Amino acid sequence: MTPAAAGPLLDVRDLSVHYRRGKTVVRAVDGLDLVIERGRTLGLVGESGCGKSTVAKAVVQLVDPTGGQILFDGEDLASLSKDALRRFRPRVQMIFQDPYSSLNPRMSVGAWIEEPLKIHGRGDASARALRVRELVDRVGLPPSVGARYPGQLSGGQRQRVGIARALALDPELLVADEPTSALDVSIQAQVLALLEEIQRDLGISYLFISHDLGAVRQVAQDIAVMYLGRRCEVGTAARVLDQPAHPYTVALLSAAPVPDPLVEATRERIILQGDPPSPAHPPAGCRFHPRCWLRSTLGNPEVCASADPPAVPADGGGLVHCHFHQQLRESAAARGMLSGAATDLQGGAS
Ligand code: ADP
Ligand code: MG
Repeated sequence: MTPAAAGPLLDVRDLSVHYRRGKTVVRAVDGLDLVIERGRTLGLVGESGCGKSTVAKAVVQLVDPTGGQILFDGEDLASLSKDALRRFRPRVQMIFQDPYSSLNPRMSVGAWIEEPLKIHGRGDASARALRVRELVDRVGLPPSVGARYPGQLSGGQRQRVGIARALALDPELLVADEPTSALDVSIQAQVLALLEEIQRDLGISYLFISHDLGAVRQVAQDIAVMYLGRRCEVGTAARVLDQPAHPYTVALLSAAPVPDPLVEATRERIILQGDPPSPAHPPAGCRFHPRCWLRSTLGNPEVCASADPPAVPADGGGLVHCHFHQQLRESAAARGMLSGAATDLQGGAS
């Protein structure tokens, strides 16, 4: 093992990705830190537009970072030579959200799964055919599926095909951007179970992006919560869901549906006021402060509106970016609020 092999597989440091839209600059990701350990799943959660897909695209190099570093296996991607970059590409693969548009309708399933092997010059025709059969079996599809076309498959089958193709080059990291959001609920559970099984067997790491906390609860060992291009908090899935340390996480958890009708009717819900501000004009200080339900009761409005909350250790592990997380903890514990939300969520995911 090289010294690098001891560190995290993916280490994203102070990442920024800014898009230009005419004269405005959209700060989709703006100073984000993320770490993915080997063989583990990091769930990345946050509401639509907070920059999750942009993070995914930066990691698989579909967009160029404006600032910061992405280290994979200890190496800064920006510093790689063309050759080194070619060797890096197969090691990180992506599964897309929409299984209906992510497959080529004119390519048979077999040819589609084989394509990355061809592009990277892996094996001769018969070795590749063998590998395709193995991959089809790996994702729980019958051998006959290889001769079919995407139009003949269900959404769940298509997503399995996408997973088979992503696995073709033996990646070490799979980036899954809302991989089950477009599927029926019953199919979602099967695809999540498949992803878990693949991780158990192959030991690969996942960056699992979702706005569905139930799905994240099922597959992720670690969770990072994002808001408007920044990280709010990070920790083990159990810590973040059972003892959320950031007011935004508490609100997200309180908004997640609960299967028990009695609990659903009586639990406390935090409704955030207003929409998230535009990443073209992010607020100063804590990005969340204009919508923070904690700021006016427990926090200090001036501090929150002017100072960037640094990462500080959260109780129970991980990190939180909130000037007043300690006050949140005390107040929430007093109301017995946090434990309720997290317990219900666990029940819903099982
Ligand atoms: P999420 O996946 O969390 O919904 P995205 O990363 O897709 O968030 O988008 C983050 C922000 O960046 C949004 O405000 C979105 O409108 C904007 N955005 C995404 N892609 C582009 C682009 N190519 N050009 C300009 N703005 C973009
Ligand atoms: Mg997205």
